[in-house]
Amino acid sequence: MEINDHVDLDQFMAGVKKRNPGQTEFIQAVQEVAQDIYEFIDDKVQYHEAQILRRIAEPDRVVSFRVCWEDDNHHIRVQRGWRVQSNNAIGPYKGGIRFHPSVNESVLKFLAFEQTFKNSLTGLPMGGGKGGANFNPKGKSDAEVMRFCQSFMTELYRHIGPETDVPAGDIGVGGREIGYMFGQYKRITGRWEGVLTGKALEYGGSQMRPEATGYGAVYFLRNMLRHAGQDIEGKNAVISGSGNVATHAAEKVVQLGGKVLTLSDSGGFIYDPDGIDQEKINWIKHLKNVKRGRISEYADHFTNATHHEGKRPWNVPCDLALPCATQNELDADEAEALVENGCIAVSEGANMPTTLEGVKVFHDAKILYGPGKAANAGGVAVSGLEMSQNSGRVSWNTQQLGEMLTELMDGIHAKCVEYGHEGGKDGSGYVDYVKGANIAGFKKVADAMLAFGVV
Ligand code: NDP
Repeated sequence: MEINDHVDLDQFMAGVKKRNPGQTEFIQAVQEVAQDIYEFIDDKVQYHEAQILRRIAEPDRVVSFRVCWEDDNHHIRVQRGWRVQSNNAIGPYKGGIRFHPSVNESVLKFLAFEQTFKNSLTGLPMGGGKGGANFNPKGKSDAEVMRFCQSFMTELYRHIGPETDVPAGDIGVGGREIGYMFGQYKRITGRWEGVLTGKALEYGGSQMRPEATGYGAVYFLRNMLRHAGQDIEGKNAVISGSGNVATHAAEKVVQLGGKVLTLSDSGGFIYDPDGIDQEKINWIKHLKNVKRGRISEYADHFTNATHHEGKRPWNVPCDLALPCATQNELDADEAEALVENGCIAVSEGANMPTTLEGVKVFHDAKILYGPGKAANAGGVAVSGLEMSQNSGRVSWNTQQLGEMLTELMDGIHAKCVEYGHEGGKDGSGYVDYVKGANIAGFKKVADAMLAFGVV
């Protein structure tokens, strides 16, 4: 093959669009990665000849299945479940399970694709996968959630295993759901093995796993700020979401001396001018995890706070922003509002929360911007440590895991700086963390794939 046989970026993206019609989220994720990778591999013949990017952008497989369950009124309900196994070049597939009505094949393919780069960045041996179902756990009884989880696992179990594919939680899948799914896996196979992460401590879970994504996103934020000679202390933060990632991100911002002004859910956001302190965060955790309530109830309870129905928090003036809810929750107008209001750093707890146009606004303004695949990698990193503890039949304590998490996030930040530093180009010293994360994540996976030949 001639070197020049390779297609250019536009031709490559045209092919991706043609092969994945209507899968907008997946196409968006591939576009964001491809533009950086194309620049990086421009003079690297081996990657072109082996069609590495084309192969990474094609999941190893997508399994889709019917999930039948019976609700409390004895109605038969039918949902669709998926597992996307994107790439296992550097380790077993690894990535969460999402239960949300918005779940479809495009969303899961984008998440699995991103996960491949994120897992590579952690330095741990994990490939990329993602799964889920268009099931809405909101308003369902525990018994209904249990029956759904059992039915989901009754199909999923044949596609996963501790050396094959190790799912975890994600939106709508927390400790309760992981427990039901693990119980069903164990019942069907007769084996206790580390097939899921995010388990409770009583049956093989890891200390620090619930905190890891949110804390990690704040450590990444701190690393970016330190690299630019700044710190979190005394700064105002706007956070979206009120689930696992958002509440733990808020907790760590408060611990490091910052003030948290907002949290949100799909119904709107709350603004608390007094700051959302640890006591209030504990109240929210109870509201969300035990009472399964809505964030609007916060403003009824803490009367200085206001609830803004149907709105997102990005117009609230702040120094720091942490989108921790879902994909495409921060668009170009909102990015501009953040920049104009003085925001200096954005760290993504969620996956792809900022649209491509929004990312461009942050880059043009040269504010610090940590993309999800780097900033929220602490969760999967501690999941990797949960796998090690399960297979080694050991358990590490909170302090040990806290130190490992900090080190892992330091390592990810350093890789982003190494590959994303533009100082040489425009002399500004600006770090393009998206480029850094994409290239560092890509290189390890690509080199492993080269070693395997054409498979
Ligand atoms: P949770 O289910 O615990 O919380 C999700 C939060 O986001 C809820 O407050 C939810 O509100 C809100 N939300 C969900 N969908 C929407 C929407 N369409 N519009 C507005 N708000 C929405 O999930 P997690 O905290 O675990 O996950 C949050 C993000 O972090 C996701 O992008 C996930 O992929 C990512 N992530 C999670 C990791 C983890 O370890 N859990 C690891 C790495 C990334 P509501 O209750 O109204 O739906």
